[in-house]
Amino acid sequence: MRYQGIGVCPGVALNRCFRLSPLPQFDYNLRAKQPKQTALTAFTDASAQLKADFSAVAAKNANKTQAELVEVQLAMLEDESFVELVQNEIEAGYAPEAAVLRAARSFEQMLKALDDEYMSARADDVRDLGVRLACRIADLPYPSLSGLLEDCVVVADDLLPSMLMTAEFDHIRGIVTENGTRTSHISILATGLEIPTIVACKGAMKIAHGDMVFMDGEQGIAEDGLNEEKMQSFGARREAYFRERQELLGFASREAKTADGVKIGVLANIVTPAVLDKVLSYGAEGVGLFRTEFLYMNRSTLPDEEEQFAIYSAAAKKLGGKPLTIRTMDIGGDKDAPCLNLPKEDNPFMGYRAVRISLDRKDLLMPQLRAILRAAAYGDIWIMFPMIAVKREITGMLAALEEAKAQLKQEGVPFGETYHAGMMVEVPSAALRMDHFAKYVDFASIGSNDLTQYTYAADRMNARVGYLYDFLDPAVLRLIKRTIDVCRSENTVCSLCGEMAGTALGLAALVALGIQKVSVSPSGILKTKSRLSMLNATAMLKVGESMINAEDATEVKQLLLKALPKGYALERKEET
Ligand code: PEP
Ligand code: MG
Repeated sequence: MRYQGIGVCPGVALNRCFRLSPLPQFDYNLRAKQPKQTALTAFTDASAQLKADFSAVAAKNANKTQAELVEVQLAMLEDESFVELVQNEIEAGYAPEAAVLRAARSFEQMLKALDDEYMSARADDVRDLGVRLACRIADLPYPSLSGLLEDCVVVADDLLPSMLMTAEFDHIRGIVTENGTRTSHISILATGLEIPTIVACKGAMKIAHGDMVFMDGEQGIAEDGLNEEKMQSFGARREAYFRERQELLGFASREAKTADGVKIGVLANIVTPAVLDKVLSYGAEGVGLFRTEFLYMNRSTLPDEEEQFAIYSAAAKKLGGKPLTIRTMDIGGDKDAPCLNLPKEDNPFMGYRAVRISLDRKDLLMPQLRAILRAAAYGDIWIMFPMIAVKREITGMLAALEEAKAQLKQEGVPFGETYHAGMMVEVPSAALRMDHFAKYVDFASIGSNDLTQYTYAADRMNARVGYLYDFLDPAVLRLIKRTIDVCRSENTVCSLCGEMAGTALGLAALVALGIQKVSVSPSGILKTKSRLSMLNATAMLKVGESMINAEDATEVKQLLLKALPKGYALERKEET
C-alpha cells in the first residue's frame, strides 16, 4: 500500500519498519488516593529525576539541535506557571499523573489557541513533558528510540522532542510520521541531520513493525506490502540514490564552477546555525541567507540583543571568515510570531511584514541591528533587508543601521566596522527599480519565492493557484534578468536565494541569465555544484535572450531542455 505525505527531507530508504509504540493512555480524571502532600512529593521527585535525565543528555550529547531541545524542556520544567498549574490540579484532588497531564493540556491549549503553525509545534514540547512526567510518576516506560540495534525506518504517530533527544540516529535511515508539519521540530531536526523524512503521512501507522518499507523523502511517499518485484525495483532505486550521494560527496572539495570554468558561488540557506557543520563539510562558500525570524517564532518573549549576539557571533566564528548573510527578521505572511503581538490580517502576504514591521518597531529592530553589528567583529557579515519595495524602506533601514552604530560607539561597545549591507529583491517594484536601489546597497539577493508570488498575485501557499506560480515564466525571468544586469553594471553583487536555485531547470535558467551566486538549502549544496559542473555557461547564456521573449513557461522549458547537456539530472516532476 502507498501512503502520501509531505516530504521534508529528501532521500530514499528501504528498511524494516520500527513502529514507535504509541504513548501510554492515561486517565486525565484520575483522583488521588494519596494525601495531597504525597502527591506533591511524587510530582517534585519525578520532576527532579527528569531534570537529572535531561542534564545528562545535554552533557553527553554532541548534537546541538538535541541539546537545544533538552534546554527547552528543562526551561519548561522550571517554568513557575507550569509548576503552579500542577500544584493547583493536585490541590483540586487529582492524582499526580493526572495533575501533570491536565496542567500540560492547559498550557498546550493556550499555545494552540494562538492559531500558529510554529507555536502549535511548540505545544508538542509541553505535551511531551506532561507525558514524560506522568510515565515517571506511574512508573511506566516512555516510548524510546534509544535502543535501536539495526537500521530502520521509524514510523510514528508523531515524534516528540524528547524521543529525539535520546534517539540512536546512526540506525535511523528514514522517518515517517502521521502528524507533524514542515516547521515542527522533527522537520527541522531531520533536515539538519539529513535523514529522509515524510510528515503528515496519513495511514502510515498501519505499517506493521518489522515489515519492509520503502520511502522517498523528496516525493513524500512511503510504501509497504512489498512483493519480490517491488523489492527489486525499490532496491535498485535505493542503490541509485546511494551511488548518487557518494558521487555527490566528491563535489564537497570542488570549487563550484560550470563545465566551461565560470565560477558561480554556492552558499547555504539556514534557519539555525546547528546545520553549519554540514554546510561547511559540503564546501559551501558561506551562508547566503540566515532566516533569523525563526529566532522569534517559538517563544513568548522577544530574543534580546545578547541572545542574538551570541547566536550570530558563534555562527560567524564557525564560518571562519566565510560570508554570513544575516537577514533581519521577516515575520508576516505565513510566518507569525506571537511574541510580536501582531494583529490578524485578512491578507497577510500583502500586509504588515518584514521591514514594514521593523521600521515601525524600533524595540525589535535596534537589538537585532546592534547584535549583527557586534557579530561583525567576528566574521564577514552581510546584513540583508527583506521585502524592500520603495526607497524610503532601504534608506530607513540604512539610517537605523547608522543609528545602531552610533549607539554602540557612544556606549563603547565593540563592533565590526566592515560589513556589507544589502537588500532582498522579492517585490516586483524593487526589481523594476534596481537601477535606483543599487546606489544604496552593496549587494542584492533575489528572493524568487516571493518575487514569483507577487508577480502573478498568486499566494505561494495556495495549491489552487499553483498553475500561476512558476518561476520559469518569462515575466519573472525578465525581472530576474533586469536585476542581474543592473547589478552587474553598477558593480553590485547579485545572488538568488529562493527555491528556484535548488531545482535543475531553475538553476539552468539562472545560469542562462548570468547569475553570479546562488544560495540553496544545505541538502541542495552538493547537487547544485554537480549541476553547475555539467552546464556550459557560454551555451546557456545564448538561451537567456530567447527565454525572456518566450510565449510562456512551457516554451522556456523547451528552450532549456534543448540547450541542456545529456545527463543533466532533472527532478521527476520537471521531466513532465
Ligand atoms: C524568497 O522569498 O525567495 C526568500 C528566499 O525568502 P522567504 O522564502 O524566506 O520568504
Ligand atoms: Mg521572501
